[in-house]
Amino acid sequence: MTNDCIFCRIVSGDVPADVVLETDHIVAFRDLSPQAPVHVLVIPREHVEAVGTLGSEHHDLAGHLLLAAREVAEREEVHQSGFRVVANTGREGGQSVDHLHLHVLGGRPLSWPPG
Ligand code: AMP
Repeated sequence: MTNDCIFCRIVSGDVPADVVLETDHIVAFRDLSPQAPVHVLVIPREHVEAVGTLGSEHHDLAGHLLLAAREVAEREEVHQSGFRVVANTGREGGQSVDHLHLHVLGGRPLSWPPG
């Protein structure tokens, strides 16, 4: 937990969030600025900066994140219509919060490639 990390503060309950799924390993909550009808962020409870800083010690954490993204899609009823899982990483990757997170997006056709 780092005090200046907004997502750590959501994990600790200091900052409110619209939580859709919680496990021992992850918290999933609705994005404040949704880009699609379904836009949920899945984050590890542990503070890890980004995909770019994952190490072999995060093997299980990475698995928990991806499985939680699938669970969120199912709960949000987009698993059959289709959905997108995105991890922006670093400045040029478009990452604005330095706590690893997966965006789960769905509920409308999503264009590709992104801008
Ligand atoms: P990224 O740009 O990939 O780092 O994504 C960060 C996302 O976090 C953005 O889509 C923001 O809208 C979202 N966000 C930032 N603060 C909060 C918050 N307190 N609760 C929910 N979503 C947030």
